[in-house]
Amino acid sequence: MEERREVDIQVSRSRAVDRLAANLGLKKMGTHFFCPGCQPTARGIPELVIKEGSFQSFRCGAEGDVVGLVKLAWGCDLETAIAWLEKETASEKN
Ligand SMILES: [Zn+2]
Repeated sequence: MEERREVDIQVSRSRAVDRLAANLGLKKMGTHFFCPGCQPTARGIPELVIKEGSFQSFRCGAEGDVVGLVKLAWGCDLETAIAWLEKETASEKN
């Protein structure tokens, strides 16, 4: 759990949420994203907000931290999500 919190902090500090979302394959329209959980086809009005390291879908009610967003977008488990995030935040420093 400690490891997970550290990743969250890194991501929110780096202000890389937009880039992270893009790398996850999330489609953005205006200030909102299409929710990978309930709007996988990216049609209509985007209902997902990502702010300061957490996300919320106003349509399906999904919410959580960036690790949760990775899990939702890819349908992967916690370990896979953390491993991917660590790689992402590491490559950002280059
Ligand atoms: Zn949703």
